[in-house]
Amino acid sequence: MTINTAAGERVVVIGAGQAAAQLAMSLRGGGFAGPIAVIGDEPFLPYQRPPLSKKFLAERPPPDSLYLRPAPFWSERNVEFMLGVAARKVDLRGRTVTLADGREIAFRILVFATGTCARRLPLPGIDLPGMFSLRAIGDVQRLRPALDEARRIAILGGGYIGLETAAVMRSEKRDVTVVEAEDRVLKRVTAPSVAKFFDRTHRERGVDIRLGMRVAAIAGEGRASALRLADGTAVEADAILLAAGAKANDELALAAGLDCRDGILTDDVGRTGIENVYAIGDCARFPSRRYGRRLRLECVQNAIDQAKAAAAAILGSPERYDPVPWFWSDQYEFKLQIAGLFDDHDAAAEMGDAATGHFSVEYRRDGRLIAVDAINEPRAHMLARRRIAEETSGDRLPRQGAA
Ligand code: FAD
Repeated sequence: MTINTAAGERVVVIGAGQAAAQLAMSLRGGGFAGPIAVIGDEPFLPYQRPPLSKKFLAERPPPDSLYLRPAPFWSERNVEFMLGVAARKVDLRGRTVTLADGREIAFRILVFATGTCARRLPLPGIDLPGMFSLRAIGDVQRLRPALDEARRIAILGGGYIGLETAAVMRSEKRDVTVVEAEDRVLKRVTAPSVAKFFDRTHRERGVDIRLGMRVAAIAGEGRASALRLADGTAVEADAILLAAGAKANDELALAAGLDCRDGILTDDVGRTGIENVYAIGDCARFPSRRYGRRLRLECVQNAIDQAKAAAAAILGSPERYDPVPWFWSDQYEFKLQIAGLFDDHDAAAEMGDAATGHFSVEYRRDGRLIAVDAINEPRAHMLARRRIAEETSGDRLPRQGAA
C-alpha cells in the first residue's frame, strides 16, 4: 500500500527521538505547512534519554513523564507519528520509505534521525539471557526487574552510562563491579584528573572497579552469571549490563546508498550527498571547522542544534552548524558538565580543589581554551561555553589527521 497524499511536499523523518522532535518543532515554528511524518520503532513519542541511567532508573516514574511534549502538542501541530514500526528500506530514486509492516511512505524531503545503539562485543555468551543494555525505555523496563532481584551487578564498561548506573545501584546498596578495558574510566569523554576524581568517588562508595581488564567471555548455564576475564578470573553477577559505548544506526542509510563512516556523512547544515536527504543527531557525522575534522556527537545539545540547522536549511535559510558541544553526567551528588572537546589539548589546569567536590579543569591548545570540565560548578560551565566559542571560532583549530 502506498500512502501518497500530498507526498509532493511531505517531510519524512526516520527515528522519533530528540533530534526528530526538534526538527518537527523548528519546521512548524519556521512556517512549514506541509505534511510531516515521523517514523519511530519504539512505541513512544519522542522522549528524553538522559534520565534513563539516572532518575528514571532510580525512581521508576511512568514512561510518559519523559516525553519531550505531550500527544496534544503534536496533534495541534499536525505532526503525524508512526510508532512501534521500523523503517526497513529507503528508495532514494523512487523517494519512498518502506516500513516493517509493508507500508510505503512517499517523501519529498527525508531526514535520518536514527540515533545510536549499544555497541555489541563479539564475545562468547553475549546473547545469553541476563545480559542487558541501557539505551531506551524498553531496555529499562527489562533491566529494572532483573536489578530488583539482583544482589551483585557487573557492568561491562566504565563510561558515563556504566558509571551512572553504578551510582544508582550503590544507592540501592547492591554490590557493583565495573570492568573497563582502558587504563581509566571515562576515557572517551574526559582527561585523567577528572577520571581520577570519579574513579576515587566510586571506589569510596564501594564500587569494585577493574581497570585495564578485558572480558574474554560471558559465562552461564542458560543465563549469564559471570564475566570471564582475560586474566583467568571471573566476576560473578546476578545481572550484567553491557555499557561499552554506542554505534551509529546507519545501516539503513548505507543500504540506500548514502556515504557512511560510523555515521551518515553530511555537510555543515545536515545535508547528505543526495538532494533533499538530511541526517541529524547521534547518527550524523558532520564537518567542523572549529575542530578541523568530522565529528559525530552523542549529546542532547547536538541533537537539538543540528536539528535546528537542518530545519533552517529545509526552510531555505541554511546556516553553518559548528558548535561548541556540551554534555553532562550525574553520579551520586556530583554533576559533571563538559564544554568543548578536550582530546587535542596540550595543557590542562585545575581550578579549585578536587577534594571539596567543586572544581573545574581547563584544557588549552596553543594557549587557546578548547574545553572545560566542571564538577558541581554550573557557573564555570556556562562561562566556559562562551569563552571556548570565542577562542575557537573560525578556522583556527586545524588538526593533523583530519578525516
Ligand atoms: P535518539 O534520541 O536515540 O532517537 C533515535 C530514535 O530512532 C530511536 O528511538 C531509535 O530506536 C529510532 N530508530 C533507529 N532506527 C530506526 C528505524 N530504522 N526506523 C524507525 N526508528 C528508528 N546526552 C546528554 O547530553 N547528557 C546526558 O546526560 C545523556 N545521558 C544519556 C543516557 C543514556 C542512557 C543514553 C542512551 C543517552 C544519553 N545521552 C545524554 C545522549 C542523548 O540522549 C542523545 O545524544 C540523544 O538522544 C540523541 O538524539 P537523536 O534524536 O539523535 O537519537
